[in-house]
Amino acid sequence: MSIETSIASLVEGETGQPYPYRRVELVEPDWTRFPGWRDVTATEWESAQWQRSHCVKNLRQLRELLGDLVDDRFFADLQRDQAERATMSMLVPPQMMNTMAPHGTPGGPGSLTEAFYADPVRHYMIPVFSDRRTDWHSHPYSSRDSLHEHDMWAAEGLTHRYPTKVLAELLPTCPQYCGHCTRMDLVGNSTPSVDKLKFLGKPVDRHAEMLDYLRRNPGVRDVVVSGGDVANMPWARLEEFLTRLLENENIRDIRLATKALMGLPQHWLQDDVVEGMSRVAATARARGVSLAIHTHVNHANSVTPLVARAARAMFDAGVRDVRNQGVLLDGVNADPHALLDLCFRLLDGAQILPYYFYLCDMIPAAEHWRVSVADAQRLQHHIMGYLPGFATPRIVCDVPFVGKRWVHQLSSYDEVRGISYWTKNYRTSIEANDPEALTRTYEYYDPIHTLPPEGRAWWASQAQEAAQRV
Ligand code: SF4
Repeated sequence: MSIETSIASLVEGETGQPYPYRRVELVEPDWTRFPGWRDVTATEWESAQWQRSHCVKNLRQLRELLGDLVDDRFFADLQRDQAERATMSMLVPPQMMNTMAPHGTPGGPGSLTEAFYADPVRHYMIPVFSDRRTDWHSHPYSSRDSLHEHDMWAAEGLTHRYPTKVLAELLPTCPQYCGHCTRMDLVGNSTPSVDKLKFLGKPVDRHAEMLDYLRRNPGVRDVVVSGGDVANMPWARLEEFLTRLLENENIRDIRLATKALMGLPQHWLQDDVVEGMSRVAATARARGVSLAIHTHVNHANSVTPLVARAARAMFDAGVRDVRNQGVLLDGVNADPHALLDLCFRLLDGAQILPYYFYLCDMIPAAEHWRVSVADAQRLQHHIMGYLPGFATPRIVCDVPFVGKRWVHQLSSYDEVRGISYWTKNYRTSIEANDPEALTRTYEYYDPIHTLPPEGRAWWASQAQEAAQRV
């Protein structure tokens, strides 16, 4: 369904509004519907250790879990994707697996196949070959580190891309691997098509260098403590890093990046983690520092009672806010209803603030997920006015060498060729001596398959010319 069709379909609905808001109670889908978890108890399910040790990491484990409920053609499709296209290896915690085909009723052999193919969470966590484009599976300007974060490392893993804020990649792993991960260059295990970059320094040395850089640069006041996902860092080491960060008077905002608040909420409900977070939050509060969690939820089905409990535990521990930074993905959430359902589920059910939706970055093999800037602008228009202003997410484009820009902030736009032009008002760390950094325009590219015929023909001719030059 197109964005326009989707929003028009309910204009005559019972509320008379294009989007019919209804409060929805959160539910934890019944995990025993999957043959492999028929005997799993609630105690096991709520154990972070059980969740971690039962993650689905490969085809064999997925087959064991699903039994014959999903046809062989799905597994063959998945196998081909892993061999030829996948930029991330498979890693899905049971909590996330359980939100796939949550309403499908398992019957005989193959009975969940179509529900699995259609499922939005499956679509980005377990991509299959037939999901991807066969015309332009990668954009000609896609790249492994599409945001050029490594170029802007001030210390290994510390990206200084904005004047007053930095991103600290403490570790290169997560409890779950998303197919569309923008840090696919570094995060996770290598795949047949992507040999991952490895940090060279030891974690203890890298973290010390980051803290040292922050001490030497008082202009930085805001640190996104990320990875990977901080839920994969042993709590004692994370607490030590945060405690030392809080000793730096310049730091006023700390944001902890963890998709695991949704993917593995059991982690954030463990006693030692909650107690540790209470200590860190008390120090932050005493020093007037804002400590927040940023999570990454892309679909309403992912917001379950356990996710709400984990968010509640973090609020009770003293974390000031939990905000969501989702990614706009075709086949997952790129329609106004799906976005509003997700935002209301987060806000009503878990008090998580819908904050941003990013356009999917220009990494390889991502064209089937990406949407055009024009569609993103339409989506932003259609979600306005339903949520409180403070909880209306901004849809943003992370423009290479520029940074986040609201999708209406472009400077000009060639919609035929799908090229938008953007400007910026600050220098990144690699532009200190670049006289044109603040006057130049920077380009961002729409997926080619979304362009009109003339635009698609132009890109085809460009590709032909490039091939002839080789
Ligand atoms: S949780 Fe974040 S860093 Fe980890 S794989 Fe997903 S998108 Fe990448």
